[in-house]
Amino acid sequence: MFEPIGVHALVRRSHVDRVMRALQRDGALSRGEIAARTGISRTTVSDIVGGLLASRSIVVVATDASGRTGSGRPAELLALDPAAGQFLGIDFGHRRVHVSIADASHDVIASGSVAYAEDARWPERLAALYALVEDLQTSTGIHLESLQGIGVGVPGPFVTAEWAPGEGWGRLSESRSIEAELSERFGARVLLDNNTQFAALTEAQHATGDEPGDVVYIRLGDGVGGGLVVGGRLVSGSIGLAAEFGHIRATEGGRLCRCGKTGCLETIASMPAVLAGCAARGLELGSIEEFRAAVAVAHPIVDEVVREAGVAVGRVLAAATLMLNPAIVVVGGDVPHHAPAIMRAIGDTMTYELSSTAPAAPQLRQAAYSGDEGSRGAIAALFHASPLLIDYPERETAPRAADSRRSFA
Ligand SMILES: [Zn+2]
Repeated sequence: MFEPIGVHALVRRSHVDRVMRALQRDGALSRGEIAARTGISRTTVSDIVGGLLASRSIVVVATDASGRTGSGRPAELLALDPAAGQFLGIDFGHRRVHVSIADASHDVIASGSVAYAEDARWPERLAALYALVEDLQTSTGIHLESLQGIGVGVPGPFVTAEWAPGEGWGRLSESRSIEAELSERFGARVLLDNNTQFAALTEAQHATGDEPGDVVYIRLGDGVGGGLVVGGRLVSGSIGLAAEFGHIRATEGGRLCRCGKTGCLETIASMPAVLAGCAARGLELGSIEEFRAAVAVAHPIVDEVVREAGVAVGRVLAAATLMLNPAIVVVGGDVPHHAPAIMRAIGDTMTYELSSTAPAAPQLRQAAYSGDEGSRGAIAALFHASPLLIDYPERETAPRAADSRRSFA
C-alpha cells in the first residue's frame, strides 16, 4: 500500500523543510544567512535554493547592496512567494467534502465545505468538490494556476465494503483511481491518505508545537478513528491501520458495526451512534441542530447517551495510554464539538482507569480545530511541513495531462 522513501531523499527533504521553515519564520534571507540559521552547508543551501527558485516556491526579492559596506557582489535576498504556488487540501468525509487552499508561505487563504448524501457515489462527490473549488475561487479571487500539489484524505478502510467493487470509495472504476482523476483534473501531484491521519497531524502539531512529543488522537465524527504520534513521529503502522480505535470492541453484544463485528467503539461514540442511542431511548433527533438544542437544555437522555459514549471512549484511551504512555490525548470530531460534556466523562473514566498509574495520566485536551483539521493536515503533509512526518511513509501520484486544467482556468 505504501512505499517507504529512501534515506537520501529523506535527508534532502528534511533540508528543504529547514530552508522553507527558516524563510517562513524569518522572512527574506540571503543564502549565507540561510546556511547560518539552518546549520546546512552553503553548497547544499545553494543547491536547494536553485531547486526552489526553479519550482517558483521562492523568489529573489532584493539584494543586500544598500546596506552593504564591503566590496564584492551583493547577496540576493530570497523569500517565499505567496503568489507563486497554491496547495489544495481535500477531506472527503462520509457526508461532506471540506477544502482548504494554502499559498506558498503555508497560510490557509480559503476554505469551505459542501454536503452530499451519505450514499453518494464517487462521481457525485467529485462533482460536489469541483463546484466547491470553483465557488471558492469565484468568491475569493484566488486562482489555482500554479497549483503545486493536492493532499486528499479519504475515510478509513472499512468503508469500501459498503459499495460494490468499482463504485466504492477507493476506486472510480477498475482502471481509474481517485488520485488519477484529481491529478488529471488539476494537473498537480496527489498525495492520498486516511483523512483521520491528516487530522491527527494537524491536531498533534497544534498540541505539541515545536517540540513534538507523544500524542494519542481520537476523532468522534461520522465514524471513529485516530492517530498516534510516538517518539515525535506520526506512525501509520505496517499497512496504515494504526489507531483504528473505532473498531476496538467496547461492549459485549451491542449494535452491529459496518466492519461486521458488534459492539465496536464506533457503534457507541460516533455522531450517528450517539443520535441512534438517543433514538433508541425514545428521543428522535432529526439533525445536528436538534441535537445541539437538546444538549443546550441538558436533556437527560442526551446527557446519558453522551456520558456512556464518554465512558467507552475513556476506557479505550486509558488502554492506549497504558500501551503508549502519551503526554497528551486529543479528542476531536463532531461529538465533543457539539457536546463538550463528553470530555468530562472521558476524563473521569481515564482518571479511574489509570488510578494505579496516576503519574502516567496524560493531559486530556479537546481538539483545536473543527471541520478543517483533515484538509489542513493534507496540506501540511504536502509541504512535509511537520517534523512529525519524518518517518512517515508516503505515496504520491505525479501530475498528469495538464491540458485537462483548461476546464479549471
Ligand atoms: Zn467495527
